[in-house]
Amino acid sequence: MTAYQTPRLTVDLVPRQFWRSSLAEQMPADQWQECRGWTFKRDEFRCRACGSESDLECDEIWSYDGNVRRLDGLQALCSPCHAVKHLGRTVHRGDPDAAMRHLMRVNDWSRAEAVRHRDEALVLFKERNRVEFVSTDTSWLLAWLGIEFHV
Ligand SMILES: [Zn+2]
Repeated sequence: MTAYQTPRLTVDLVPRQFWRSSLAEQMPADQWQECRGWTFKRDEFRCRACGSESDLECDEIWSYDGNVRRLDGLQALCSPCHAVKHLGRTVHRGDPDAAMRHLMRVNDWSRAEAVRHRDEALVLFKERNRVEFVSTDTSWLLAWLGIEFHV
């Protein structure tokens, strides 16, 4: 790698406390469909990481600040990129080797670079698991889509 750049695709492991508590799992189906539709349209029906137009899914972008989980946005990702993003889930329910190869391809990384990034994500995951998050901020939904939803 010549110079540091923000990678196109990153691994972002959801803290254990929030497994099975995504918006997709918690919102009423019609509201979630509205979120997906809005996101796909804004992203012009392309994966934001690799540009693919097939097998699009709606990725939830969360940040963790102190003991607050905050929704920072939604983005269209193709299924292979989404499997990289949530590599922890992919280990249990998918093909983690294929996900690592996809991460290498999208970011033009060597295996060593991909493994280093994955290991850094794992360290962050362990740090986040030590925090007890007490609230979830979903005000982004209200600001951008006019949807009021609290968890
Ligand atoms: Zn993609």
